[in-house]
Amino acid sequence: MFGIKKLLTDKKIRVTKNKIKLLGYLINKNCPVTAVEIIGNFSKESSLNKSTVYRIMDELCEKGLIFKFLSENGEYMYCFGKGEGKSHVHLVCDKCGDYYCKNINLDKILNNFDDFQTLSVNATFHGICSRCKK
Ligand SMILES: [Zn+2]
Ligand SMILES: [Zn+2]
Repeated sequence: MFGIKKLLTDKKIRVTKNKIKLLGYLINKNCPVTAVEIIGNFSKESSLNKSTVYRIMDELCEKGLIFKFLSENGEYMYCFGKGEGKSHVHLVCDKCGDYYCKNINLDKILNNFDDFQTLSVNATFHGICSRCKK
């Protein structure tokens, strides 16, 4: 819990119980989840309704703590990004549809863009996950 508070204060985000809950949930998940999943998970908590979840997610996203991206199904997905906006990519299994987070060094690729200053990367790699390969 203490670590999550520090993540928020380091980014100058006002700490609330709900933000700690949502961020903790994403950290534990360790993979992208849809807004529907998040809202479903907290459905019993009256203080975390749909609009609160979206509002907090947007704030955390703006501050670079989490990633928000559009999945292949056109749904927004969220994941904990450790503030590594330029090296965080996603792998998606074409068989089961599971998403995985991956931090890779993209410096070599980004250096090829000459005059273009990359601020963030939203890349999804398609393939077959280890479970489906068996
Ligand atoms: Zn799979
Ligand atoms: Zn991710």
